[in-house]
Parts: sequence; C-alpha cells; structure tokens
Amino acid sequence: MTKEEIKQLYSMRDILEQYEIFPNENDFVNCPFCEDGKVSMKINEDDYYCSTCNANGDIFTFIQNTEKLTFPEAFKSLGGTYGKPTFESKLILYRAKKNKETKLSQQEKMKSEIELIFLLMNVYLKWIHRLEPFTGPWEDCYNELKHQFGKLENSNARW
Ligand SMILES: [Zn+2]
Repeated sequence: MTKEEIKQLYSMRDILEQYEIFPNENDFVNCPFCEDGKVSMKINEDDYYCSTCNANGDIFTFIQNTEKLTFPEAFKSLGGTYGKPTFESKLILYRAKKNKETKLSQQEKMKSEIELIFLLMNVYLKWIHRLEPFTGPWEDCYNELKHQFGKLENSNARW
C-alpha cells in the first residue's frame, strides 16, 4: 500500500487504540510525549497536536515517535510497500471503504430512529397534558410514551 492508502485505511483513533489510548469526548488524550502527560493532545481524523509540547504529526510520525522508528520502518509496519499497488492491497482498501460506509449508514439510521422517537414522545406528552387523566385515550398516550421511552433506552444500550 502507498502512504495515502494507509492513511485512508487507518485513522488516528485506530492507531491510538493499539496503544490503548482512547480520546475523551472532546477528542483529547493525555499527551504521551509530554513529561507530565497533560490532557493537551487534540486528536483529529488524520493528525494530532499537543498544545503543551507542540508534538504534532500523522499516524506515521506517531508510530515513529512512540516506537522510535524511522519513517520507512513505521511505513512498513503499517503494510506499506514501495512500487505499484498489489491486488491484495487494493482488496484491503476496498474492504475498509465498505466497512466505513456500513458504519456511517448505520449511524445515519440510528440518528433518524432517535429523531422519530423524540418527535413521537413530544406528541404524546402534549396529548397527555391535554387529555383528561386516566381516560382511555390518555392511557393510550401514556402507554405509547412509555413504549417510546423503552425504545430510546434500548437504542442507548445498543450504542
Ligand atoms: Zn505533549
């Protein structure tokens, strides 16, 4: 694989996971290159930057600096080859692209599912306030609301 192909295949997150480093919800990690390891390293899709020690680079420099490797060594360790792309490397990329697409469409589906749940919950809540409590229609709305709430909890557990 070429350098660009490897970059398409692995995000910064993928590489960090190999070192059991997981970015927080704001995409920051304890900088592994800082002496005191402050939470000052911002992780982007393809690169990183530490505002304390100014360490920055991409997946290759991260591996180079962590493993004390030269670029060609880090490149090879990620499956890099010099010369024309082989059938195998093309296949690996194809699969990675497919996986990414599947993941994205699952996330999209999930998002619209949750939007619908919130929409319905709003409608039922409105009716619960409007209707006479403990009447048939009120109970229908109440049960529907509970049902949607259960769906929401389920989807949270799934993700
Ligand atoms: Zn640092």
